[in-house]
Amino acid sequence: MSINGRVLLLNQTYEPLGTVGVARAIVMLFKNTVSVEEWDGDRVLRTPREEYPVPSVVRRRTYVNVRRRRESAGKNRVRIYIRDQFRCQYCGERKNPVELTLDHILPRSRGGTGSPVNVVTACIACNQRKGSRTPEEARMPLLTTQTALRTKLERVVLCHYAEARPEWKKYLFGYEDTATLKRA
Ligand SMILES: [Zn+2]
Repeated sequence: MSINGRVLLLNQTYEPLGTVGVARAIVMLFKNTVSVEEWDGDRVLRTPREEYPVPSVVRRRTYVNVRRRRESAGKNRVRIYIRDQFRCQYCGERKNPVELTLDHILPRSRGGTGSPVNVVTACIACNQRKGSRTPEEARMPLLTTQTALRTKLERVVLCHYAEARPEWKKYLFGYEDTATLKRA
């Protein structure tokens, strides 16, 4: 287990909150802010002096209200790229993250927000071509729909990580996210 591994973080109510790095998860354990739901097999994180068993799923001991955290998710570049499967949503090309940018569908200069529903992955060329126009004005139709963008971003991102983590699945697919459903 490298220090770059991810740990699934659950709310006290078992709602998935996202992932944290292994080191941060171990610090949270030491601070007693989380308890371990699943260990990552018998993997350990080695430091020069110690070995720490590595958790795979941890759960907060206190409830955290996630509404604000969800709303700021649009600022997280990688989450948007994962949601859009690293494809430019104008030309459809799949690119490396360094060749991608975030495009505001309704440009910020015209009142567009940073909400995940207004932000898509775009390659540099398409982003420059579109400029500060709407897709309609630029005659660059989006390959996605607002409905698709409304898909729960957190869930898509977690499922992306969970492909390699079978022990996460029961937490991700068993949880009914009623708070999100009500807002949708
Ligand atoms: Zn493009």
